[in-house]
Amino acid sequence: MVKDLTEDQKHILLKEGTEPAGTSPLNHEQRIGDYYCIGCDTKLFESKKKYDSGSGWPSFFEALPNVFETKIDNSTGLLRTEYHCKKCRGHHGHIFDDGPKPTGKRYCNNGTCLIFKPKI
Ligand SMILES: [Zn+2]
Repeated sequence: MVKDLTEDQKHILLKEGTEPAGTSPLNHEQRIGDYYCIGCDTKLFESKKKYDSGSGWPSFFEALPNVFETKIDNSTGLLRTEYHCKKCRGHHGHIFDDGPKPTGKRYCNNGTCLIFKPKI
């Protein structure tokens, strides 16, 4: 980790926590730009891959190639695919199969773990 993280950020990135639904200002972010990992500043998502899933978390139908690794999370009794930043190993969210075309994927990402950098 290269940055000083808040307790909330550490809880999610390092302990696989989840922010309460609907709390991230990034839910409503619609500007053109890119989303970076708060732990290591790796570019993870582009705004053109973001969509409004109605879930209460920032949602993307595709991530940049090769930035995440996944593992199966059975912590709630439901099998879910969880993903981590490859570089800093920070936990970001879960991938679901109910996303829009063309991928059909939904990257359900904690907004707490993202930095949005608008393109000017
Ligand atoms: Zn990272």
